Amino acid sequence: MSQNHVKNFSANQFFNLISKSTDDYVFMWDIENNIFKISETIFDDFDLSREVKYNVIGYWPTIMEPNDVGVWLRDMDTLLTGKLKNHNMEYRLIDKNGDIIWVSCRGQVNFDKDDNPKLMVGRISNIGKNNKFDNVTGIKSRQEFGSEMNHIFKENDCKQGVFVFLDVDNFKSFNERYGHTFGDKILFAIVEKITSQLADNCQLYRLDGDEFAFFYPNTTREEILTVFNKIQLLLARNIKVDNKQLFCSISCGACFYPEDGDNFADLSKHADSAIEIAKFNGKNQITFFSQQVHSHKLKNIEYKEALHRCVNNGFDEFELYYQPQIDTVSKHVVGAEALLRWHSKDFGEVSPVEFIPLLEENNLIVEVGKWVYDQAIKQCVAWQKVQKDFLMSINVSYIQLKEPNLIEYLKSSIESNKLNPKTCILELTENCWIPDLNLINEGFKDLQNAGYDIAIDDFGTGYSSLNYLKKLPVNVIKIDRSFVQGITANSYEYTFLEYIIKLAHIINLKVCVEGVESWNEFNVVEASHPDYIQGFLFGKPVNQAEFEKSFLS
Ligand code: C2E
Ligand code: MG
Ligand code: MG
Repeated sequence: MSQNHVKNFSANQFFNLISKSTDDYVFMWDIENNIFKISETIFDDFDLSREVKYNVIGYWPTIMEPNDVGVWLRDMDTLLTGKLKNHNMEYRLIDKNGDIIWVSCRGQVNFDKDDNPKLMVGRISNIGKNNKFDNVTGIKSRQEFGSEMNHIFKENDCKQGVFVFLDVDNFKSFNERYGHTFGDKILFAIVEKITSQLADNCQLYRLDGDEFAFFYPNTTREEILTVFNKIQLLLARNIKVDNKQLFCSISCGACFYPEDGDNFADLSKHADSAIEIAKFNGKNQITFFSQQVHSHKLKNIEYKEALHRCVNNGFDEFELYYQPQIDTVSKHVVGAEALLRWHSKDFGEVSPVEFIPLLEENNLIVEVGKWVYDQAIKQCVAWQKVQKDFLMSINVSYIQLKEPNLIEYLKSSIESNKLNPKTCILELTENCWIPDLNLINEGFKDLQNAGYDIAIDDFGTGYSSLNYLKKLPVNVIKIDRSFVQGITANSYEYTFLEYIIKLAHIINLKVCVEGVESWNEFNVVEASHPDYIQGFLFGKPVNQAEFEKSFLS
């Protein structure tokens, strides 16, 4: 290019050329005359009015995430008063698809001789695009986590630390319930809470979906526990999105560098094992990696494979056991609870406390639940021939409630077996309700409308139960056996039992007390007047033949 060419080359031509040569949006703001010029591509990506040309301060906020507008306007104010030489901000825009895009905006200000800002030239980059940052939360991505950790471990920058994976509990159900845009807002709010509890030298990264990670250098187990407890408290009380108050919890898996691994791959594997155990043990907790945790995980993998085989082989290793339920006054057997047993060829008898969560994890519970239901219904029909109105209680996992055709399936099975649904009680455990209250509520209502009685299982072990009694359509509450163990007439457990039963009766609910093992316990429990008792005192869960022999002949 000759000197002449350069001379004749206008600022406009230069701008157009440069804006074509980069993925960033280039801008030029003639502050004096209030004229704004930006790369044409922005109009393809965002719903930005071309009027922005004359009024950038008015139009730019129309494509911004509303929460970021305030800070941006303040920056503009300072800029216009001439106090700012550089504009340098990261904030969120909303693109044409409604997706949040994190951008970094940098501009250089030019002043006139009286120090009034005259011109600003700069560029806006989509920082999510290069995978360094996550667009939803603005924190660094999985790739960055890997490369930064590798750097730390390779360069020996840090002698010791704790490597932590975090996973939001039941996040899928938030997304299912409220949609992804709302889900993204929840994640953003969660990230804010978590980062507020991390030290300055500790960054949070987003691994995937609802999974996060951080590496806490030079710290102890106790410190990590304190941080976790603080996060736990913040999430349980403080998440408010679009005026909705939400209860969130997270599960964490942690391991030590360098004891549990001196490289990224090993530490990730071990934090993963630990988080799996945290989830398995009921979520909302932190688990530290140990060899025991590792073997537990391996055993779970083997269990899951064996459970799959069993389902594929027509449930061949499963059997239903039945435990009698007794009328407290007449002391007669009024019904039974069907309880699944797994006689594993490879592992022997495995407790449902261990294998039900595994079935839930990979949704196998949906199929197994139908099998349980069919067996129990057929059994109930058969036993009603011996004892009219025999009641059958069947456990239903909350995962099954999410299955859209569950109600249809239950209805058709009951109709084809000609069973009165009132004699079939569906038990739902209280533990998994918090994030799913609305879903559960709808599920409960559907089931009740179909004629079933609904029982809340393990009552007293979950979250603020009384509150839920008011909100959920329930017919029976089953008080957890932890309230019966060691009960005496003047214990807290007895007072709890007495008042819950009184309250339940006032609102027309029946009460079944679980886990009565001795006559001593029975006598105390009986004084609180529950309707039914279920416990080893009257019978352990047994198979069909034994149940018939002991309770129906
Ligand atoms: P759950 O529904 O609360 O069932 C009662 C549990 O308490 C049974 O344990 C029963 O054997 C035990 N139990 C009853 N009376 C006594 C007693 O007096 N003393 C003691 N120590 N224990 C007593 P099990 O059969 O091991 O089942 C454990 C849990 O597994 C069940 O708790 C239920 O949540 C789940 N479960 C079992 N079968 C199924 C099923 O078919 N579907 C689903 N979704 N969950 C099931
Ligand atoms: Mg039950
Ligand atoms: Mg129970």
